[in-house]
Amino acid sequence: MTRRFYRDTWAEIDLHAIATNVREVSKLYDNKNVRIMAVVKANGYGHGAIEVARTALSAGATHLAVALLDEAIELREAEITEPILVLGRIRPEDVAIAVEFNVMVTVFQLEWLIEAKKHLHADECIHLHVKLDTGMGRIGVRSKEEAASLFRFIQADESFALNGIYTHFATADEQDLSYLNEQHTRFVEMLGWLKEWGIKKPLIHSGNSAAGMRFPEKAFDLFRLGISMYGLTPSPEITDDLPVSLKQAFSLKSRLVQVKEMPAGEAISYGATYRTKQREWIGTIPIGYADGWLRYHSTNGGAVLVNGQRAPFVGRICMDQCMIRLPGPVEVGTVVTLIGADGDDEITMDEVAARLGTINYEIPCVISSRVPRIYS
Ligand code: PLP
Repeated sequence: MTRRFYRDTWAEIDLHAIATNVREVSKLYDNKNVRIMAVVKANGYGHGAIEVARTALSAGATHLAVALLDEAIELREAEITEPILVLGRIRPEDVAIAVEFNVMVTVFQLEWLIEAKKHLHADECIHLHVKLDTGMGRIGVRSKEEAASLFRFIQADESFALNGIYTHFATADEQDLSYLNEQHTRFVEMLGWLKEWGIKKPLIHSGNSAAGMRFPEKAFDLFRLGISMYGLTPSPEITDDLPVSLKQAFSLKSRLVQVKEMPAGEAISYGATYRTKQREWIGTIPIGYADGWLRYHSTNGGAVLVNGQRAPFVGRICMDQCMIRLPGPVEVGTVVTLIGADGDDEITMDEVAARLGTINYEIPCVISSRVPRIYS
């Protein structure tokens, strides 16, 4: 699974943690007929789509979701045969490729159906999930008129099979539930239109990690589990509300490639923005912004763990390397933990995200493909 690599920086992906998270979350649904759709878009949020998909499926997920047709094909080429839904819009002219790879696609435009039809052979049928926009304002059908024409077109044509209907919440990870409830009510109301039009309900789904874990009673047939499968909380605001204790699956490690004692007043890195304040031990590690370790990590108290102790970044982070201030002499080759636990301390994804003023989702996604993923 892990490709060969010849560098001293890598990400460790704990697949057992992912399996445990899926199993623990599933327990919330023990008595309900709700299945888990594991969201493995963006290379499994940077963890590795194929490995995460296989793990999630073996831990009980029944469906997969990705953002792009290309991502779905990658899974099919890895001989993953379970149902896959593309959450984003595919181009209508690529519809035959989706059929060829047996991939379900999201639809929300009548014009898309009309165009896609031109690219399907008479005996071909594409499986669709209709996206309803209940308040995310991204993609999806909003009005009853739009919905009526879309569903009518699907029902009237054997090239189209309606497999699902879904929506996406904008604020499920917030304490204030008013907007979430509004969206849920709107979704239920829109689903009511189907009855009016005599359309048999396909698979219905709405919840992401936050909604699915906090409000299992509001789930329909599928729960689209993303961030929490990777052991991360959807937002710090609701960490204490979650009924499941999650295990972070992603750690980021490197090794010291040089350690030197520097006298006071020496400059470190581009721009010479940092100068040693006294005699200092400076270590160099081979990771930089081309690995997705952005320059901003050296601000806001950014640090790594070396032998269980915090060591701050000093000077600007370069493209391929950066420097840290060590508590004292440390051997070249010593492991440096940028994300993860070492000794009694841990640098969590949430800490790293807070440092950058962003959300935990973004951090593993931007660790570039130059950083090998090692699976355990
Ligand atoms: N469903 C859709 C449509 C999404 O775009 C996403 C992720 O952004 C998810 C589900 C999974 O959300 P989360 O990672 O918060 O569980």
